[in-house]
Amino acid sequence: MVLDERLANPGDTRAVSGHLDETGYTLGEHEFRLPSGMDYDLVLTNAGEGILATGMISARVLGVCDRCLDEAELDIKGEVDEYFLFKEPDQEIELGEGEDEVDYSLVGSDHTIDLSDALLSALLMETPFVVLCREDCKGLCPVCGANLNDVDCGHAAQIEAQREQDRMDASPFAVLKNLNLDE
Ligand SMILES: [Zn+2]
Ligand SMILES: [Zn+2]
Repeated sequence: MVLDERLANPGDTRAVSGHLDETGYTLGEHEFRLPSGMDYDLVLTNAGEGILATGMISARVLGVCDRCLDEAELDIKGEVDEYFLFKEPDQEIELGEGEDEVDYSLVGSDHTIDLSDALLSALLMETPFVVLCREDCKGLCPVCGANLNDVDCGHAAQIEAQREQDRMDASPFAVLKNLNLDE
């Protein structure tokens, strides 16, 4: 993005919104796709020493459900807060408690700022560590591997029935129950 005269003076602000054509990203073990890139809605402010970019990003993200291995579709919104300094600071910037580096980028010599890193890191911040196709995803059957969201293979009921049977067999009424069955 090229900075023009609208941001030439301290205090100048300019709203920018647009679209970033990213196709995907990786976070930990997870691969995500961005079928329609990501959208941003920012305000750029000339803060004297640099340009402050604040606002929101949103994206439709496709990943793989951790439970059923089916496609998981996430709508992610994230917050952008990035500082682009006009030049490297003359003195060391004082570090706040617990910070080990100052977070800023630089305005390019051609008066441009590259927002893509800031937009992507806003997306990464809001991407969940556990990816689910839906909150109550039933996952895969441990016996036959069927996707329990789509089919009821019956194994869960069988396991439950077997447990019930074991409980009955262990109870002092087991003998009575067998009598009933014989009738
Ligand atoms: Zn799932
Ligand atoms: Zn099954």
